[in-house]
Amino acid sequence: MPFCQRENETIKHLFWDCNVIQPFIHEFTTWVVDKCNSIEHLDLNCSSFMFGTTKYGLMFNKILMKTKQYIYKCKMRERIPYLNALKFEIRHLFEIEKSIALKQSKLEKLNSLWEPLMYLCVP
Ligand SMILES: [Zn+2]
Repeated sequence: MPFCQRENETIKHLFWDCNVIQPFIHEFTTWVVDKCNSIEHLDLNCSSFMFGTTKYGLMFNKILMKTKQYIYKCKMRERIPYLNALKFEIRHLFEIEKSIALKQSKLEKLNSLWEPLMYLCVP
């Protein structure tokens, strides 16, 4: 059953068009702009949200992947997505990457990759 319980659930509807998802994406966008000094405007559309964008760095696409994974998880559990839960998932993703980087002595590389988005990854 789609979040909104109205439209047919196409992939495009689930991840973009749905009137439950649009406010969630808007909240996500506001959070990113608020936390990242390097991003003044986050210009997401259906295509860049679905397929990624080169505008905001590699790690931003990873965050978009995490966001879509989270939306899908909510759909499977029949729960409405919440930004706070997504924030937790993004921090968890970063912590996993950090522990891998530590073991491989690649912490500097990790920090430089994540640097523009660092404030999305810490509480
Ligand atoms: Zn819907």
